[in-house]
Order: sequence, then C-alpha cells, then structure tokens
Amino acid sequence: MPHLSLEFVSSEWLALNEKFPSETHQFVRGFFQNNASILSEYFYQVMLSNPEASKFLSNEDVQQRLGNSMQRWLSGLFGSSDQDSVFKLIAEQRKIGEVHARIDIPLHLVLRGARCLKNQFTALIDDGLLSDKQRVLAIHLASDTIDLAMEVMGQAYSLSHDRNSRAEEAYRLFAITQNIANEKDQQRAAVLHWENQLMFGQAVGKKCSELPRIQTSEFGLWFRHKGAHAFEGSVEATAILDAMDAIDHTLLPLFGAGGHDLEGQAKRVSLLHDLRDNVRSILFHLDSLFEQSNELESGRDVLTRLLNRKFMPVVLTRQIDQARKQDTCFGVVALDIDHFKQVNDTYGHQAGDVVLQQLALILLNNSRSGDYLFRMGGEEFLLVAVDINKEQVQRLVEKLRVSVERELFRLPEENTLRVTISAGVSCFDGHPDYQRLIRKADDALYQAKSRGRNRVVVA
Ligand code: GH3
Ligand code: MG
Ligand code: MG
Repeated sequence: MPHLSLEFVSSEWLALNEKFPSETHQFVRGFFQNNASILSEYFYQVMLSNPEASKFLSNEDVQQRLGNSMQRWLSGLFGSSDQDSVFKLIAEQRKIGEVHARIDIPLHLVLRGARCLKNQFTALIDDGLLSDKQRVLAIHLASDTIDLAMEVMGQAYSLSHDRNSRAEEAYRLFAITQNIANEKDQQRAAVLHWENQLMFGQAVGKKCSELPRIQTSEFGLWFRHKGAHAFEGSVEATAILDAMDAIDHTLLPLFGAGGHDLEGQAKRVSLLHDLRDNVRSILFHLDSLFEQSNELESGRDVLTRLLNRKFMPVVLTRQIDQARKQDTCFGVVALDIDHFKQVNDTYGHQAGDVVLQQLALILLNNSRSGDYLFRMGGEEFLLVAVDINKEQVQRLVEKLRVSVERELFRLPEENTLRVTISAGVSCFDGHPDYQRLIRKADDALYQAKSRGRNRVVVA
C-alpha cells in the first residue's frame, strides 16, 4: 500500500480550504495560534488522566517537549493556501504519523486526542464571539482540517507500522531458526528412518495396513504441524505435502496388492521406484526450504555475521520500552572505520572485506553478550549497549577503540595493517523515538571525525 500521492492529498487539502471564506480562515488560524497553549494544556491534561494514554507520557515529557510540539502543530495547521506550503504541511503530518508508529502509540489514542481538541475548540468559541453562521463555518473548517491531518498521519502510521511488524515477524523467525542446522539434520534423519521401517515392513511381508505412514511418522507430524506453517505458501512446502499424500494414499495401498508372480514382482519394483522418487523429492525440497530460511532470516549480514540493520527498529523499540518501564538506561554507539577508503585503494577490496570481518570480531569480543551489534552498511556499525549509564558506555567504547588500535590486522598475502575507528555515543534520555538517539550518535561521530578521528565523542 503506497502513500496516497502527495498531489492527491494536497488537492484535497486545497479544495477543503476553498470551501470556506477567507474571514473564516483568518479567524480559525488566529484562534488556534492565540490559544495554542490553552488547547495544548487541555489536551495533555485529558491524555495524562487517561490510564492508557498516560503510559506514553510523563509530566516531564509534556513540559519539556511535547507541549511545545503540540503548540507548533496547532499553530501551523491552518492557513496554508498555496501548494508548496500544503506540501510541507502534509510532509509534517506524515512525519508525525511515523513517529507515532515508532513509539507504538495505538491509533485510537491519537484519534481520541483529535476528538478532544475539536471538542475543546467548539467549547472555547461558544461565547458569543461569532454569529451563528460564522461559528458553524469555523467549527467545520477546524474539524475538517484536523480530520484530514489525521487521515494523512494515519496512513503514514499504518505504512510504518506494517514495516515494523514485518521486521518483528522476521525477528521472531530469526530467533526460532537459530538452531536450524540441527533441525535440518534431525528431520532428514527422521525421513530416512521412516523409509527404513517401511522397507523392512514390506520385506517381511507386512500387510499394507500395517506399513508405517509417512504423514504420521515423526517427520510427517513435524512437517504438518510446524514446518508447513513456517514455510506456508512456498512451492517446496506444497511439494512435500503432495509427496506425502501420494505416498500414503496412492502408493502404499498398492503394496501387497500384486501377486508373487513375475508381473506382481515387476509392479512391486516399479512401486518402489515411485516411492523412492517421492522420498527424494521430499528430501530435496526440505533441503531447499532450510537453505532459504537460513538466508532469509539468519538476519545477519553475510560478510560480518553481525545483525542486519533491518532489525534495528525492533531492537531499539524494545530497548526503549524496557528502559522506560524499568527506569534503566542504554547507549547507542555509531562506529566508523577511519580512512577505510585508503585500505581498499591500497590493498584492494578483498583486503577491505577481511578488515571488516576482523573488526566485527573485535567488536563482538569486546562487547557484552546482551549487547547488539549491527552492520549499518559499508564500514559503519552500530552498537546498542544495554543496561548501562553514560560513564560506563563511554568506558566500554573507549576500550573498544583501544582494542582496535592495538590490533594487527592480517590481510591476504601476508600483509598486515593498523586500523582505527571513531565513535559517537548517545544515551537514552527518556525520549520515546529511537531515531533521535541514532541522530545524536551520528552527530557525535561526525564530531569525532572532525576532531581528528580515532576518538570517542559522547553526545
Ligand atoms: P572517514 O575516516 O571519514 O570515515 O573516511 P573513510 O575513507 O573511511 O570514509 P568514506 O565514507 O569516504 O569511505 C568508505 C569506504 O568504504 C568507501 C567504500 O569503498 C568502502 N566500503 C564500503 N562498503 C564496503 C565493503 O563491503 N567492502 C569493502 N572492502 N569496502 C567497502
Ligand atoms: Mg570511514
Ligand atoms: Mg563511513
């Protein structure tokens, strides 16, 4: 589901504006600007008294930042009359929707907030300031505009939310597939075990009804109840289910049907071939499923084996949630190799890759197992250091920096090399949006680079 096009939304916005006379616009804009602080105060008073909404807010948050953002939003919402400023307005609503999605506010709370603002506006202008006709127009304009803003926010919200839940889904699968290699061997062995039992059964002349069915074998049960769900809809899963069905319902009933004459023998041999083909098909498709799931959701960067950046939103959202609930802190560290381009230019891209791999190992060995390490792309990494305060995270990253500085990197063809890194650190400060932490860490990294590299800067 792509965004409604900017042109479409902006034409709606402009059309809405055109429905109202300019004095209504003037009045509403002026009123929202002059009363932004009253409206905002009322809004947060209502929200803080709501048990569900108050989980996302604290008095401090409201005083320090949210009150101001709300006032800015209220003051800017009305009075855009040309396309450019409407474009800007729409972009802003989308950004707010994305923030809401990142901090995981339920949509109904956002809508409740909008309803509360509309009510309050209506109540405030109900004091004989305007003629009845003017009042109706003002209420309509305010209400339609807030609704349209909500629509744009809501769409950005659900787009981002879908993206997040897909990453979350993948993350869960990733956790499950950690021991995928084990599972693969086990299930292969289970297929072969069933086949063995079947062969034995038919060799000793068991009746057809006594031959073991693959669907109720160890493998069949696992696949029908777990594997098929995990790989639902894939060609391979369907092929395996079909092959099991053919074995149990077409081939096995034919065993024992033929006599012991030559014709019967020939039929049995051809049946055994069919059976073998079906078993091979199962094993082949099973391998291919495991292969895919390895790649799909090992969720790791192929070169360094560190976490892929697509899991970063899930991890950071959880960390923020936990830190807010448990009143703990964590650090976000942006790391970047210094003058890495020179490494590639001097020793070649392959040597560069080796450096990246060795660096990833140093980072892993010098962080704690509860921490998360992402490769963000190129020679940039992100460390999420859990349960740690500002001084501790600074020490940890300093230790990392020194470990890298001291390491003699080994390149192909016996070359060795020294490498340094720069790092920018930011610490969780109660703000629910993880993008802000990343931005702060990036800014600090930029500082570290401009102050001469091979250093750690804490935001
Ligand atoms: P700075 O100290 O400012 O960070 O300088 P730099 O040279 O490290 O930074 P710059 O961003 O200019 O260059 C990064 C280089 O990283 C460019 C690119 O060739 C290299 N690079 C990015 N990804 C890979 C990769 O996967 N393998 C290799 N070998 N090189 C990569
Ligand atoms: Mg670099
Ligand atoms: Mg870089």
